Amino acid sequence: MKVVKTIEEVRNQVKEWRKQGLTVGLVPTMGYLHEGHASLIEASHRDNGRTVVSDFVNPMQFAPTEDLESYPRDIELDSAVVEAHGGDIIFNPEPEEMYHDDFSSFVDMTVLTEELCGLSRPIHFRGVCTVVAKLFNIVKPDRAYFGKKDAQQLAVIRHMVDDLNMDIEIIGCPIVREPDGLAKSSRNTYLSETERKSALILSESIFMGMDMVRNGEKNCSVIVNSMKEHINTEPLAKIDYVKIVDCKTMQQIPELDRPALCAIAVYIGKTRLIDNFFTEDV
Ligand code: AMP
Repeated sequence: MKVVKTIEEVRNQVKEWRKQGLTVGLVPTMGYLHEGHASLIEASHRDNGRTVVSDFVNPMQFAPTEDLESYPRDIELDSAVVEAHGGDIIFNPEPEEMYHDDFSSFVDMTVLTEELCGLSRPIHFRGVCTVVAKLFNIVKPDRAYFGKKDAQQLAVIRHMVDDLNMDIEIIGCPIVREPDGLAKSSRNTYLSETERKSALILSESIFMGMDMVRNGEKNCSVIVNSMKEHINTEPLAKIDYVKIVDCKTMQQIPELDRPALCAIAVYIGKTRLIDNFFTEDV
């Protein structure tokens, strides 16, 4: 397993694998890898001859007020995780390798990116689509792996691949949780001990919503209001959104009459955390 820093090195490596007839999987990440990322690497290792893990904190998807500078980074930790779970190389470029001085082309998307996280993070998905399109062009994988943890991101990437005729299979992988339910996230490291306890309000409300769906509730307002009420019992929690949307279009729906996504974003102190469930997985 090796860490490569340049686009040329990745391309040369992938070309060699292709000559040997091997398929290639790509797992895009921002590093500080945990078991959630590991599950994606394992899925790629199972499905493909070789796996590239990209490890890049993409400046373009952070607004100036967000946590680009403080985002945790640890390439030693990441190398160990990739090695242990069957990845073959880590692509860990510097920002200048990905964005040269006169960089001026972007992949932008309407509609799907205007709901949920797109409302509070207006430039986020333009940054995500642009960097993922670049990674797809650099690695040219057969398959790429994304977590359902970032459900809107998964929908946006699927849509981009379809719109732009990218010949890559997109695989969505289940959310990996801590034993107490909290969805694993690199941002969990921002939480103090007290906040870490308060953060359980996210998974509790997700499990509550899932129970209501399991018990046959079809009215989205009823589900959303119960979840909001529960989150509001936690003094450190501040709701950004709790919404139920069509899982393809990301537009809100009044009733569960089609496959839907229930997604939440909640601040615990200064840390913004997300969680969700797809009704199809309930
Ligand atoms: P990130 O490094 O946070 O940008 O995440 C990289 C990829 O890992 C994304 O596709 C995420 O959805 C996925 N991921 C992050 N956390 C989890 C988790 N708890 N379970 C499953 N996938 C995850």
